[in-house]
Amino acid sequence: MLTHALNYGTGVFAGIRGYFNREEGKLFVFRLFDHVRRLHESARLMRMGLALSEEATSRAVLELVRAEGLREDCYIRPLAFYADEIIGVRLHGLNPVLSIVALPFGLYIDKADAAHCTISSWRRPDDNVIPARGKITGSYANSALAKSDALLAGFDEAILLNHAGLVSEGSGENVFVVRRGVVATPSLNQSVLEGITRRSLITLLRDELGVPVEERPIERGELFVADEVFLTGTAAQITAVARIDHRPVGSGRIGPLTEQLRQLFFDVVRGRVAKYRCWCVET
Ligand code: PMP
Repeated sequence: MLTHALNYGTGVFAGIRGYFNREEGKLFVFRLFDHVRRLHESARLMRMGLALSEEATSRAVLELVRAEGLREDCYIRPLAFYADEIIGVRLHGLNPVLSIVALPFGLYIDKADAAHCTISSWRRPDDNVIPARGKITGSYANSALAKSDALLAGFDEAILLNHAGLVSEGSGENVFVVRRGVVATPSLNQSVLEGITRRSLITLLRDELGVPVEERPIERGELFVADEVFLTGTAAQITAVARIDHRPVGSGRIGPLTEQLRQLFFDVVRGRVAKYRCWCVET
């Protein structure tokens, strides 16, 4: 019960998806090495020296997935945490432990085609409070506050503003806005996690769909005049936002670009697009 990370939120984690490709009978782990790199970066933020290198961590993930014998879509959760059973909040002189769990997993947000979001009254912590670019367990108290308030008020997800009152991200997703054929997403200095789905979609939008993407500060009002809004993340994948605070987004239904991007994304993650096969790590 005294486990440091449980008491003080001093853990870092990753959330990774494995996609089963039925035609080939293979399970692909999407952008494993990028997730592992971010896990190690998060560990550095928390002064955590992990015993396993990035390579060894990646190998451990693959070994686990193979040992579990999963032949369906799954979610993989590596967690590095200070396991010391002591009283005293700090980051130094503690001993981290790494655990990895893999389990079958489907949709994270039920209404992936038409989510109703609210702008949360909770703010995303500023980089000088807890850096959002790290996936730190303690930060998720903020996500949990926002998510429960949203769900219990009848919404599907919360969109949080940052300290400056600009759009940051969902409780567990990055946010994209489409207007007049241009896509925009909050830049990485807007108190957002450096999402790996975010980065992948920016590449797909620019290089495959020929759509310009801006990474810049986004105002709340832009969400209400957007043609399309969608949330992205490993768990949420690409979730179309149909309404925000009871206002329809665009047509009030999943938009054409979101739909097109989603089809491409699902082909990519299952290893069906040769050019992006390098993002899919075979187990
Ligand atoms: N923001 C937050 C707060 C998250 O928890 C997540 C999920 N990891 C994301 C964004 C999306 O990141 P990714 O695409 O790397 O899963």
